[in-house]
Amino acid sequence: MPTYAYLCHACGRPFENQMSIREKEEWKPRCPVCGSAKVEQQLFGFSVGGGGGTPTPGGCCPPGRGGCCG
Ligand SMILES: [Zn+2]
Repeated sequence: MPTYAYLCHACGRPFENQMSIREKEEWKPRCPVCGSAKVEQQLFGFSVGGGGGTPTPGGCCPPGRGGCCG
């Protein structure tokens, strides 16, 4: 049974749901954290290319340059 990955646009949390393809057609994705339906399916194993750079997730410094991570 495939696992589908989603990203919640409301709270920014990724989550996964395992279901069959037929179940997926019926299933309305919802964030398990905040309950929002504003979720977007993520693709496993595909690199989405050809459209500029991906934003780097913030929150920490690059390795080796410690000091501002708290
Ligand atoms: Zn959410």
